[in-house]
Amino acid sequence: MRGMANTCILEGDYAMSSKEEYLSMLKEARKQLPSVVISGERFTPPKPVILIQSKQTHIVNFREIVNALNRDPKLVARYLSKELGSPYFLTEDSRKLILSRRIDPRQVANRIDRFIRTYVVCPHCGRPDTVIVKVKKTWVLRCLACGAETPIPKI
Ligand SMILES: [Zn+2]
Repeated sequence: MRGMANTCILEGDYAMSSKEEYLSMLKEARKQLPSVVISGERFTPPKPVILIQSKQTHIVNFREIVNALNRDPKLVARYLSKELGSPYFLTEDSRKLILSRRIDPRQVANRIDRFIRTYVVCPHCGRPDTVIVKVKKTWVLRCLACGAETPIPKI
């Protein structure tokens, strides 16, 4: 019978038995909603500009991208090199990343996206304000916005 009461007088039941829980649920929902919207608005990393030149693949605006992600250019380069199975080199000041073979630009863009999802954006709150820290032998993505710590694969 109690189950029926729950479904019929939902509001009253909440108000009497778990008002606090209900309120904190609302608060949680509100907290989550704007943060996703905000992060979507403000976090738009530059789209990669990728050129195939003879036998190489150039990410022309590499430095711009890593600056927006606030990540070490060498780390991002190493990740892409591993994922795309190609040796790489960085031009002066990490302005460009050059992969030493021809790779479909869509594939390159896809791996950059994946890097952002795994190594930049906090899976709890969706914000990009994170740092990578090394705790003993584990890598952790630490969120400066919500404090969450998420283990991530080593690169
Ligand atoms: Zn977070």
